[in-house]
Formats: sequence, structure tokens, C-alpha cells
Amino acid sequence: MPFRTRWHRTLARFFSPDKVPVWLLAAAAIGVGVIVTTIVLRETANTQAGYEQYKWRDTKYADIRSRIVTRNTSSVVSTIEYPVTTHGKINETIAAVLDRYNRSFDAYVSSHRTRVPFEQNSSYEVVRHTNKYLSILVSTSRDYHHGQPERETAYWTFDRETGQPLTLSDLFGTQATDGIARVNLYVRQEIARQSARHPVGYDMSRVNTLLTDEYYKSFLAPTNTTLRFDFSPGEIADASLGTITVTLPIDNLQLFMQTSTARGLFDIMSVGAPNSPRVQAHPGSPDCQQLKCIALTFDDGPSTHTSGLLDTLMANNAHASFFLIGQNIARYPSIVQRQHLEGHTIGNHSWDHTRLTRLNQTQVAREITLTNDQIKRTAGTTPTYVRPPNGAINRSVISTFERLNMTSVLWSVDTRDWADRNTDIIYNRVVANAKPGSIVILHDVHKTSVNAVSRIIKTLQKEGYTFVSLDEMFGPNPAPGKIISRASQ
Ligand code: ZN
Repeated sequence: MPFRTRWHRTLARFFSPDKVPVWLLAAAAIGVGVIVTTIVLRETANTQAGYEQYKWRDTKYADIRSRIVTRNTSSVVSTIEYPVTTHGKINETIAAVLDRYNRSFDAYVSSHRTRVPFEQNSSYEVVRHTNKYLSILVSTSRDYHHGQPERETAYWTFDRETGQPLTLSDLFGTQATDGIARVNLYVRQEIARQSARHPVGYDMSRVNTLLTDEYYKSFLAPTNTTLRFDFSPGEIADASLGTITVTLPIDNLQLFMQTSTARGLFDIMSVGAPNSPRVQAHPGSPDCQQLKCIALTFDDGPSTHTSGLLDTLMANNAHASFFLIGQNIARYPSIVQRQHLEGHTIGNHSWDHTRLTRLNQTQVAREITLTNDQIKRTAGTTPTYVRPPNGAINRSVISTFERLNMTSVLWSVDTRDWADRNTDIIYNRVVANAKPGSIVILHDVHKTSVNAVSRIIKTLQKEGYTFVSLDEMFGPNPAPGKIISRASQ
């Protein structure tokens, strides 16, 4: 029994009276260790269902933290990163979508067996962070070992005070119908451009059926000059192309964004009626303070359709305004002379229809001056009204207009005639939206638009409208450096 004896001797030595303090110390140290470990674990992680854990992570934003929920089992490897902001409603809205992704993952996992765990990764990206607004994008990637992981995205721009996600209607206010229709046209144009660069994978018929004006609810506002829409992989193009991102400059949407929400998110210039009182153009010209005046404006000419349009205006005793592209004038000098002689206003629509917001101030000035000089040479009048091509404006363009003493004219009745090219639609849009003081945008390069004019004039004249030029509506050059879209009536 030597072993037993040695064992007993060791035990006896350990518990001998002179070793008791060491023993107690060891026990105390283990006790403290257990307590500290428990506290630390409770602070940093929580255990649910035996395998789900969460922890917190700071972000670069002092007021947003991430709650990260992970699961690791033989069939599941999952990480979900929830943003936790200072507003509970924002957190709930986002968590609801991440949870929906998670339920769909769990439903798949519970009905399929696997040796290699199925994977889920869901997280978020702060696209814009201001005191008042938060643009957030969430995305999930679920790998079921089919080759291509399934991906989905969702996004919002939240009002941080109310916690409500904003819609395009909040941005556009009373102009939501026209604003959203424009957004849809621009998004589809951009997708068509992208698909031209990647001919394989885009489903343009899907784009056309999915992207109606009703499709647009939420949006991202990455900067104070851009709007962004993301499409989940597979939504409008082959999933292998990934998320399709469409970023739109707001330079040509400012007309529709005259709300306080839009001003909070973007750099928006005021567009509306001129502040200064109307100056009568000539003694004897119509008094738009008394009459129901309306201004038809025609862009992009002169063209082969313009002469017939002048005949129609004359036959109906109507005046209008023409925003000419400088480089088109030399081909139709007599038409430009007629426009002036027959009492219409001639305005400037740049030399070559460049988007002026992409030019520097010297280049913008050249576009305007060349065109003004060409009109002066041809018709003997110098324009004071300018319509920026595509309605695209920014502070730099407008300050150049101001230096050149030009009044910018946008519009209040948006026919979108260039997109639809349908005489009935154009007629209906004008008649349905006409108000005293309206400025209507049309294009005399499209036969479909010119063909609508006679009916438009006859119907609205019966309703008591007088068709006037911009000079007659406002007087010459009412608001240099300002942007007007209608009369103050
Ligand atoms: Zn144009």
C-alpha cells in the first residue's frame, strides 16, 4: 500500500494547520474569479436557447450602436447586425425587416438537412447621418449552398425626430405626382444606360412592368445633391449582377422639391412666382392681374414643326414663348424672325442643350452668350429669359445667369411630352392641370406635341383663358438671378 500511504501523506500535509491559509486563499481567488467572469459575461453577452449570443459594438456614430446576434450550430452559422439608434421606432422598423429575413432563413433551414452549415449574414450601412435625418440600408446574404447566395436589400430615410420613414411624397409635397413621375423616368433612363454597358443580365421588360410610379416609396439621400434607389439582386436584373444602384442628381428635380423636408435633406433653391410686382410689357398688352393668363412655352426648336405651330397660334390669337437651342437657329432664320414679329417671347435654351450643371461658370456663360448673340443677329431682340436644359440647376449655374442678367424659367404644368409622345396624353395633362398663371412646358421638335396645341387652346379659351407670352405675363426680365415657374396668381 505505498501509493495509498503517499496519497494520505500528501493530503495530510495540504490540510495541515500551517497550510490552511494557502488553501483559503486559493478558494477565495477561485470564488472572485467566478463572480468576475459572471459579471463580465452578463455585460457582454447573453445566452439564449443555448447557442444564440449577442454582443454590442460601437460604430463611428456616437448615437448608433450595433447589436450583433450570432448563432453557431452544426447546421447554422448566422450573424445579424441590428442598428440601435436613439429612436425606438427607427430601431423597430429596421429590426422588423432583419427579423423577416431571419424567419425566411429559419424556414429554409428547418426544412432542409445539411452537413455544412447554412449561412446567414445580415447587416446595415449608414448612408447619410445628419442631426435631423438618417438614411440606412440593410442587406442580407443567405447561403444555402446553391452556388449563388441569396441577397436582399431594403432602405429608408428616417426623420429622426418622429422616427418615421420618409416617402417621396414627403419630399415632393403637392407636386408628388409630377415629381415621382420624373423620378421614375430618370431611374429608368439610368437603368437603360447601365444595361447598355452590360448587355447581358438586364431584364428591361421586368424593369418596365415593375417600375411604375407606385413602386417608389422609400429612398436614400446619400448627399445633399443626390437621391439613390437600390434594387435587390434579381429584382430587375440577373442576380449575378448583384445589387443595382441608381443614383440621381437632384439638379433637375428641384422644381418639384419645394418642401421643408426636401430643404432639410438637400441643397434646394427656391422656385416659384417672382417676388417683384408684374410690369406690363407694353401698353395695351393683356392685363394678367385681371385675366386668366396662361403661358405655353416650347423648347428645343426651331424645328420643321415650328412654322405650322406659328400658324396655329396665329389662327387662335394666342401668344407663346420659344426657348431656342442656339445651334439650331441658323437653319431656320425666318422662323425665328416670325416668332419675334408675331409677338412671342424668344428665350435662351443654351447653345447645344448641354446639362449646364456639369459645366464651369465660364462654359455656362459661353452657352448663354453665344445663343443670345445668335438670336440678336437673327431677330434683332436679345433674350432675358433662359430655360436651363433638362431643368437642371445649381447655385453655380444660377449665379452665372444672374451675372448675365437673365431670369430662369421652369414650369408649373409638366406635360412630359418628350417621354410620352402622345397627343391625347399631352392635351389631357395641360387641360387637367391648367391654372391662371400656369407656365406649360412643351417641345416643338415633337409633332405629337405640336398637334395637341390647337385643341389645348380651344378648350382653355372656352374656359376663359388668355394665351400670353412670358413678356406679357411678367414684363421683360422680372427676376434676374431668380427661378420662376408660374405667375403669382
Ligand atoms: Zn430642352
